[in-house]
Amino acid sequence: MNILLILSALIIIGYHFIENPQSFVKIKNIIKSRFIYRKDVPQWVADRRTHCNGCKYNFKNKKTTQRSIKDYWWYGLNGFKTQCTICQCAVKHKTKIKDEYCSLENIGEKIKWDIYDN
Ligand code: SF4
Repeated sequence: MNILLILSALIIIGYHFIENPQSFVKIKNIIKSRFIYRKDVPQWVADRRTHCNGCKYNFKNKKTTQRSIKDYWWYGLNGFKTQCTICQCAVKHKTKIKDEYCSLENIGEKIKWDIYDN
């Protein structure tokens, strides 16, 4: 079962690479985020998470009836950790990457947090 999930994820990711070469940067960030372990969360990460925790696009804040199959799919792939339903990235991981930014930009809305360049 896990093999099917991994293969499906790879197919989806491959499709994204063809559609959007910028996806390489995203994949790099996804992989990098899995290797960042911090006992103490820096303030800039905590601030980002505060925004995400209150956001209507956060999977956990979406009403069950508003969640799509894609949302549930990515929730499973993210290890049942809540995710941003715009980019489908796990909030826990996305917020740790300095050059990530809020996905509201992807739908033309004002972002809640930006790249951390300190
Ligand atoms: S990244 Fe932005 S849009 Fe996504 S959950 Fe966080 S605050 Fe909301």
